[in-house]
Amino acid sequence: MNGFDYIIIGTGAGGGTIASKLAETNKRILIVERGPFLQRGIENWQPKEVFYKGKYAPPEKWLDKNKKEFVPGTHYFVGGNTKFYGAALLRLREGDFNEIKHYGGLSPAWPLKYNDFQPYYNEAETLYEVHGKRGEDPTEPPETAPYAFPEVSHEPQMQEIYDKLIKQNHKPFHLPLGIRLKEKDMLNSLCVRCETCDGYPCLVKAKSDAQHICLDKVLKNENVTLITEARVSKLVTDESGTKVTSILVERNGKEETYHGKTVIVSCGAINSAALFLRSKSEKHPNGLANSSDQVGRNYMCHQNSVVLGIHKYKNEMKFQKTLGLNDFYHKADDSELPLGHIQMLGKVEADMLKGDAPFFTPNFVLQYLASHSIGWWLTSEDLPLPENRVVVDENDRINLLYSVNNSEAHKRLVKKLKKILNFTGHRFHLTNSAYLKNRLPVAAVAHQVGTMRFGTDPKTSVLDTNCKVHDLENVYVVDGSFFPSSGAVNPGLTIIANALRIGDHIASK
Ligand SMILES: Cc1cc2nc3c(=O)[nH]c(=O)nc-3n(C[C@H](O)[C@H](O)[C@H](O)COP(=O)(O)OP(=O)(O)OC[C@H]3O[C@@H](n4cnc5c(N)ncnc54)[C@H](O)[C@@H]3O)c2cc1C
Ligand code: SF4
Repeated sequence: MNGFDYIIIGTGAGGGTIASKLAETNKRILIVERGPFLQRGIENWQPKEVFYKGKYAPPEKWLDKNKKEFVPGTHYFVGGNTKFYGAALLRLREGDFNEIKHYGGLSPAWPLKYNDFQPYYNEAETLYEVHGKRGEDPTEPPETAPYAFPEVSHEPQMQEIYDKLIKQNHKPFHLPLGIRLKEKDMLNSLCVRCETCDGYPCLVKAKSDAQHICLDKVLKNENVTLITEARVSKLVTDESGTKVTSILVERNGKEETYHGKTVIVSCGAINSAALFLRSKSEKHPNGLANSSDQVGRNYMCHQNSVVLGIHKYKNEMKFQKTLGLNDFYHKADDSELPLGHIQMLGKVEADMLKGDAPFFTPNFVLQYLASHSIGWWLTSEDLPLPENRVVVDENDRINLLYSVNNSEAHKRLVKKLKKILNFTGHRFHLTNSAYLKNRLPVAAVAHQVGTMRFGTDPKTSVLDTNCKVHDLENVYVVDGSFFPSSGAVNPGLTIIANALRIGDHIASK
């Protein structure tokens, strides 16, 4: 049988989550995922395998605006990028839904507001077992319900940093995390607070990823079928060109066709745009869903930097990604405009630094750097520019045309962290500390959003406010593509909440 009520393409934060919602309808559902199940094994937690050898890197290269090849920092597995994410699951701030002035220009208003997402944020946090504490972060959007799971505690060295930040009148908060940890009952806790979480798959099924939270349950339903290592190459419309009736799938070296009444695309912002551009036909010569010429445009991925605070005392922490700081999110003492968000990075290992270090750097230097550093992850808003876009070239390859913007905000944010490191990053108030700063390159597509933004005007947006394609009767997009602006917090929770929202909408039809 190859006829279904719903076809869902992609199993990440968007696809996996909407599958869990729609499975309750008892309709016939086909889920199509280009990657395999990720095999469990000790290499899941080996920095050398994951970061240096690139064991889980995708088997393809994309091109940048100078036609230079790069391996994109994305992953094709059941569960998508949530298999690897740091599981920091934050809501956008209430103000992120309005127009905001930035150093680099305007961040546009969303067609829906925080209140439209608020109940789904709650549902998303409970579903993905987010551990957090309300009331610590003054920029937190309104919510009366507490987190269903308690915050993840700081290890002693992080607690010291937290206390020092408080002393300096900062407002650090416990980072909301989707990990399945029972700190009061570690004997029965899935999560063991290891040092290989952010960027690694979880060996013990304790990360709240889309596979373990959604698909493992959904696949027990008789109405749900998953096919893996099945890459969707094209969406095919009927003669009118207004309805997708089938999808073409490359599997086992052959092309297969599946039919569905409703098609839900969730390949990640870059691959979804590429799929619609590849689905061009006589009726849609510029690509499907593209009457507005907006498909692929307004790609955003955040301005991100990794900063290492290095000092002469060893970093004894294991799971250190427990602290966040939004004191510069909307403005700062010396800035009326937003700078961005700061959170801890997972533990830094020598094999992570190898790829970026000059080839002559001796191993012991990398070992020293890694074991004596604390990693910080800085995010500033990336603005939606039409020229920052995904294009599929004549050889069917993805070109990611991207130029950095809003740099002033990010520069100022880095400066703020440097100041903070002077009084908190060094266990015994060292003065001879060094900072290793690394601005992430175009290949860092982890926070990809935009490319098919939602809106009320079909001339300037691709999706309507229910994330249905304006140009098509029966096609929805539920990954990060719909974001009209990026905000400056990690995108995962908003993608999950939106997928739950769209799931309700589709199920109610
Ligand atoms: C290392 C890392 C750390 C991160 N940390 C965080 C974090 O701490 N917090 C946070 O909020 N976010 C984090 N993110 C980002 C987060 O993982 C993504 O925002 C989220 O997974 C995006 O969800 P999505 O549904 O848009 O796409 P994805 O999760 O990327 O899912 C897309 C799926 O579609 C499949 N696919 C693609 N093309 C096709 C095709 N043609 N046919 C069939 N299937 C296809 C892919 O294989 C994949 O499974 C991180 C990402 C990375 C890589
Ligand atoms: S910290 Fe917990 S959730 Fe993360 S990889 Fe380790 S065991 Fe898994």
